[in-house]
Amino acid sequence: MATSKYSNLKEDLEGLRDKHKNIENQIRKLEERILELYTLYSISKTLNLSSQLDELFKETMKILGDVLGIDEYCVMLMYDGELAMKVTHGFVEDVKDVRFRLNEGVSGRVAATGEAVLINDVSRDKDFLYYKGAKKDIGSFISVPLKGHGETIGVLNAHRSEKNAFKKGDLDFFIVVAEDIAVAVEKARLFEKTREDASRDELTKLYNRRVFFDNLSKEIKRSKRYKKIFSVAIMDIDHFKNYNDLNGHLNGDKALMQTARIMEQSLRGEDIVARFGGEEFIMLLPEIDKKKAVLAAEKLRSSIEKAAYIGEELLPGGKFTACFGISTYPEDGEEGLQLIDMADKALYLSKQKGRNRVFSSSDLP
Ligand code: GH3
Ligand code: MG
Ligand code: MG
Repeated sequence: MATSKYSNLKEDLEGLRDKHKNIENQIRKLEERILELYTLYSISKTLNLSSQLDELFKETMKILGDVLGIDEYCVMLMYDGELAMKVTHGFVEDVKDVRFRLNEGVSGRVAATGEAVLINDVSRDKDFLYYKGAKKDIGSFISVPLKGHGETIGVLNAHRSEKNAFKKGDLDFFIVVAEDIAVAVEKARLFEKTREDASRDELTKLYNRRVFFDNLSKEIKRSKRYKKIFSVAIMDIDHFKNYNDLNGHLNGDKALMQTARIMEQSLRGEDIVARFGGEEFIMLLPEIDKKKAVLAAEKLRSSIEKAAYIGEELLPGGKFTACFGISTYPEDGEEGLQLIDMADKALYLSKQKGRNRVFSSSDLP
């Protein structure tokens, strides 16, 4: 009787211990789950707050590091069919120029197949390239595809220097995080595209008037402050109404696009080229004095004259050409509108003098 009572007590105690263990396990799982949820919550919050890609990445990556205690991870995004490093966290600069083609290395494989991988010991995976030798101390590795609308737009990689450092649950977690990052990337790209579209002229894809005026006022402030100069050039295509009448409006549109490309090629990267309206274009040439601006315009004028345009032989001079007017800050004015007015007057002079010419404010009577 006493023994059976004792053994009953023992069983009860063991049962209690089991229950206790169970509860402890459940608590641990719950804690992990809360951590995951908190991370996801923080990430989603970041996504809604920041619309610029870089800002967003910095925030998201910081959250991953802070909450998960994983100190090495990166996002690679597809650009022109290759994975390029977008952002790294916790490891050296050397990897920032690393690119992978589809199926190249583990990341390239993940991008190609769209399947996430967890590798417990990378030394046993012949595809593993250690970021092309730029990062050698990697033991275990997770790579998860970032999926946009039906296509892989990049990969999220996380690694640790020790082998077997990730659990199966970590992979599941990174898959969820990757979904959020993919949404963020798509959102940010859409945002950037919308912003880009809003600053461009639809036909020629050059900047529009608004962007030109924004840059002009910035350039005035900058030049005032640092005692710099800059020039403004206005360009107007010669006999363009005639060209349209002779060759049709569609060919007129093509000629405008062709001219826009010639302008971009002829000018420097720091110059702003915008469509001012109709067949008129305007350029902002930072740190360029009048003499140099005349030379730059002359080079452009000559390129347009030399280029072959459909049906140009029907025009009065037999060639598709343009006129230019130039003004310079601060000698022609300290206000944007004054500069534009002076350039416009010089342009008018070019037309009067027979077209296909460059004149500056110095040539005005
Ligand atoms: P000038 O040598 O004095 O500059 O004569 P012009 O014929 O170039 O000047 P005008 O201002 O008389 O005519 C400009 C023409 O540009 C009229 C207009 O139909 C045409 N144009 C304006 N915008 C566009 C466009 O987006 N596409 C096409 N095809 N034509 C356009
Ligand atoms: Mg005009
Ligand atoms: Mg014209």
